[in-house]
Amino acid sequence: MNAMNFIGGIFVDAEHQQTIENINPATGERIGTLPRSDASDVESAVNAAKAAQKEWSALSIQERANWLDRLADGLAARKEELARRESRDTGKPLVLARRVDAQRSVDNFRFFATYAQQQEQEVFEMDDATNFVHRKAIGTVGLITPWNLPLYLLSWKVAPALLMGNTVVAKPSELTPSTANLLCEVASEVGLPDGVLNVVHGYGPEVGQAILEHPSIRAISFTGGTSTGRHVAATSAPMFKKLSLELGGKNATIVLDDADLELALDGTLRAGFTNSGQVCLCGSRILLHASIADRFLAKFVERVERMVCGAPEDESTQIGALISQEHLRKVESYIQLGIEEGGAVLAGGTREMTGQVGPTPDGAFLRPTIIDGLNHTSRTVTEEIFGPVVTIHRFDSDDEAIAMANSTQYGLAGSVWSKDAERAHALAQKIETGIVWINTWLHRDLRTPFGGVKNSGVGREGGYWSLNFFSEPLNVCIKHD
Ligand code: NAD
Repeated sequence: MNAMNFIGGIFVDAEHQQTIENINPATGERIGTLPRSDASDVESAVNAAKAAQKEWSALSIQERANWLDRLADGLAARKEELARRESRDTGKPLVLARRVDAQRSVDNFRFFATYAQQQEQEVFEMDDATNFVHRKAIGTVGLITPWNLPLYLLSWKVAPALLMGNTVVAKPSELTPSTANLLCEVASEVGLPDGVLNVVHGYGPEVGQAILEHPSIRAISFTGGTSTGRHVAATSAPMFKKLSLELGGKNATIVLDDADLELALDGTLRAGFTNSGQVCLCGSRILLHASIADRFLAKFVERVERMVCGAPEDESTQIGALISQEHLRKVESYIQLGIEEGGAVLAGGTREMTGQVGPTPDGAFLRPTIIDGLNHTSRTVTEEIFGPVVTIHRFDSDDEAIAMANSTQYGLAGSVWSKDAERAHALAQKIETGIVWINTWLHRDLRTPFGGVKNSGVGREGGYWSLNFFSEPLNVCIKHD
C-alpha cells in the first residue's frame, strides 16, 4: 500500500510529488511508497491544524474523550490489518505485532479517554483566597516518532495531545509509514474534525526539521535516538518550545543470588530479545550474581539457541527481521567490536534462520547473540546497539551490581530478579534510571511516569505526566471578600 499525507482531513501526495520506497525488511521487497514531503507540506499541515484549533479546544474534555473512544473503536475493528501492516513494515513477528503493537495502539486511545474522566479540578485553598488550576491547550503540537513500535508510540502521543485540546502535526518514521496511514483512515472514517490530526511523511532532516523550526508549533514530543534528540533540543529549546524527549537506553537486567532462576530466565530472555532487542527498554546488559552465574548462563545459552528465527508470518517465529539491512550491518559491527574488545560469542552472531517458512536471503535476519567476557565499561557494553545482542557480567555484591548498572550514559529502565522484594526494592532505588521492574519486565500501568534520566531523555509521559506535558496550567487566584 502507498501511504499518503493526511492534511486538513484529506489524503494528499507531497506537494513536490516526490516519494520514498517502503521496503519489507524480512524480504527486501518494495511494498509501497510514502510521500517525501518537505517544509511546504509541513506549512500546509500547520495551517490546517491552526484552523481547527479554536473549535477543537472549545469542546469539553469529555467530548474529546468521546472522539478518542471512536478512534479506539475504529482501530479495534481493524486490529488484524494493523498488526499485518506493522509486521510488514518492521519485519517483526506477526504474533508480536498482534499482541503488542495492535493491542496497545487501541489501548492508548481507550486509556486516555477513560483517564480523562478521573481528573478532578485542582484547587489550593489559602486563608484569604482560593486558587484554581485550569489546564489549557498549548495549540498545535509536533509529534516525531521512531520505527520500532510505530503506532504504539505515535498513539501514545496523539491520544493525550488531542485530549488536552491540541491539534497535531505528526511525523512517523520514514521506515514505517503504514499504520500511521491506517490511523488517518480511521480518523477519516469516524469523522474526526478536519485538521485536528495531520500526518506528514518523509525524512527527519526534511519534515522533522521543518516541524522543529516552525514557529507556530509550540511543543515537541520526540521519541527516537539520543543523538537525534540532542539535535531536537538544540533546535527547539532556543525557541522556548515545550519539549519531551524519550531517547535511547542500555538497560541492565540484574539477577541476584536469591532469584527464582526459572522466572529470571524467562524474564531475561524476553527483556533481551523482544522485537529482536529493538525496544528502548530491552535489557541488553545481563548482570549475574557470581554464585549463580554459571548455572544461569548454561540454561540461558540453551534457551537462546532454541529461539526460532524466521519469517514474520510464521506463527512459531520468535525472532523476526531487523528493521533494515543498514541496521543489520550496524548491529553486526557491534558484535565484531565486542570480539575485538575481548568478548566471546556464546550464541548467535550469524544470519541463519531456523523457522519453518523461508529462508529469504534478502531479509535482515540476525540470530539472538550472547557475548561474555567484556569489561562493563567497554564500548560494546555501554553504547546502545538496539539489536538482538546481550552481554554477560558477574558481580559479588549488591553495591557492585549497582555500580555496574550505573556505568553507562543511559538511564531508561532496568529489572531486578530476587525472591526478597525488600532487598530488590532497595537496590532498585539506587539505579540511575526512570523505571525498574522487579521480577517482571515491560509490565506497564499507563498511569505511571514513563521516561528516562541521563542521556535517555528529558521529562516523562504517561497518565498525569502526559496530560501535564500536553497542556499549559493556568493558575487563577480569587481573593476572598
Ligand atoms: P531516530 O532518532 O533515527 O529517528 C526518530 C525520528 O526522528 C524519526 O521519525 C526520524 O525521521 C526523525 N528525525 C531524524 N532526524 C531528524 C531531524 N534532524 N529533525 C527531526 N526529526 C528527525 O531513531 P530511530 O532509529 O527511528 O529509533 C530508534 C531509537 O529510538 C533508539 O535509540 C531507541 O532507543 C529510541 N527509542 C526510545 C524510546 C523511549 O521511549 N525512550 C522508545 C522507542 C525508541
